[in-house]
Amino acid sequence: MTEHAVVIAGGGPTGLMLAGELALAGVDVAIVERRASQDLPGSRAGGLHSRTIEVLDQRGIADRFLSQGQTVQVAAFAGVPLDISDFPTRHPYGLGLWQNHIERILAGWVAELAVTIYRGREVTGFAQNDTGVDVELSDGTSLRAEYLVGCDGGRSLVRRAAGIEFPGWDATTSALIAEVELAEEPEWGIHRDALGIHSFGRLEYEIRDGEVVYMDGGPVRVMVTEQHVGPTGEPTLRDLSEALVVVYGTDYGVHSPTWISRFTDMARQAAAYRDRRVLLAGDAAHVHNPVGGQGLNTGVQDAVNLGWKLAQVVNQTSPESLLDTYHAERHPVAARVLRDTIAQVALFRPDDRTKTLGDTIAELLSMDEPRIRFAARMSGLDIHYELGEGHPLLGRRMPDLDLVTANGTLRVFTLLHDARPVLLNLGEPGGFDITPRADRVQLIDAKYVGTWELPALGAVTAPTAVLIRPDGYVAWAGDLTQLGLADALTTWFGPPAAA
Ligand SMILES: Cc1cc2nc3c(=O)[nH]c(=O)nc-3n(C[C@H](O)[C@H](O)[C@H](O)COP(=O)(O)OP(=O)(O)OC[C@H]3O[C@@H](n4cnc5c(N)ncnc54)[C@H](O)[C@@H]3O)c2cc1C
Repeated sequence: MTEHAVVIAGGGPTGLMLAGELALAGVDVAIVERRASQDLPGSRAGGLHSRTIEVLDQRGIADRFLSQGQTVQVAAFAGVPLDISDFPTRHPYGLGLWQNHIERILAGWVAELAVTIYRGREVTGFAQNDTGVDVELSDGTSLRAEYLVGCDGGRSLVRRAAGIEFPGWDATTSALIAEVELAEEPEWGIHRDALGIHSFGRLEYEIRDGEVVYMDGGPVRVMVTEQHVGPTGEPTLRDLSEALVVVYGTDYGVHSPTWISRFTDMARQAAAYRDRRVLLAGDAAHVHNPVGGQGLNTGVQDAVNLGWKLAQVVNQTSPESLLDTYHAERHPVAARVLRDTIAQVALFRPDDRTKTLGDTIAELLSMDEPRIRFAARMSGLDIHYELGEGHPLLGRRMPDLDLVTANGTLRVFTLLHDARPVLLNLGEPGGFDITPRADRVQLIDAKYVGTWELPALGAVTAPTAVLIRPDGYVAWAGDLTQLGLADALTTWFGPPAAA
């Protein structure tokens, strides 16, 4: 039986990102992907939020995405735009780039890292014991792995086969989304009526002065809210035509669909992200309405949280208990995303009373403090893992400072390209012996003269040293002489190597 240290079920954005993270850490990882190629029939997610661009920047690949898409202010809550151009980040914007391009670029990166991908095959089941997991594939073969990660989307077979509960909220509304051609020209843009929200746009667009300007030709992306929650089966062109007629009195001669899909406001989250040797990430762990554009972003960031931890456990530098921090940190993040999408869908309800409430929320969000708070949240820049009392940086994203080192200037994110932890010493050089962990943790002596400013929090006092995890979150901040550093090193990166 073919063996890999880690098998990932599903090569969507989450699975690809996780594979890249594991490969960077030297782990033998393979993806099993149902689709024969990376092509997606539809465009799906529309882009990336600021924090996701940052995590890609931490690996040195953000430019691959930025060069193919268009930066724009995308953060919004219940349709109220939230400008982040004054935020302290190198990327104070979102990126408009369809998911098929995001996946293509991620797949290119993963190919460079020589990850094995078994395409055109499904994971059909698995059995785990104390030493590993036997993963059954649809072609009758099996793979043996130390760990199996289900990145296999909202209907995750891995989640179901593991018997992990998926509690949440049932659908109250549904919409059809499709890429089609129209014989007649519709009124472009977003429309609201008594049923809900509908829209027509072209797949190809440009951002001019912060506004979306559609190209003159090419496929049309249509979204139409249905009169009643639709069935779970695949929607047809006829369903789309009928839904358009209900709203517009015409289907605009809709024809030649390349993709028709239905989404709802169902919001569910896996009760546990791990069952022994089986883990879940991305849509397999959480599903919700696309409003706010959080799904792909949350999945990619799940992968970046899990990757280095799983690598350290597989490489036997950290105990298995490190994996428990994955659920502890990422479950609350997606739980908040679920709550926010439920609230936004509620605010989009078409009745006049809800619209009045929406106007009130919009007025609140036009004030600076709520705008900053919600913009930090929707862009992912305010994520705070509960790592206990301490410096405000603890558990928050490390800012991408311009450092001065003996070898010249260097960005903090550049230090994270190899997904290795960094102990950044901004005080006097020396004073801490990294030798017992020199194989795992980079000690960098540097100077930084600017202010320390965090999104939504503002200025914080400058620490003299910071321990940065491979995912870019701060594991410890303080003074190199403080005792807490040794504990933090052991907690996050394992005990020192035996002398
Ligand atoms: C209309 C729409 C608009 C959206 N807009 C946004 C947005 O603007 N921003 C945003 O962040 N998110 C958005 N999303 C959500 C986003 O598309 C998903 O959150 C994202 O695709 C999740 O990635 P994933 O890798 O976790 O799962 P998926 O993309 O679902 O990938 C799962 C992969 O697993 C494969 N697979 C499934 N079962 C198996 C199996 N048994 N064996 C092997 N392979 C398997 C599938 O073929 C697939 O490639 C949108 C979604 C929709 C539908």
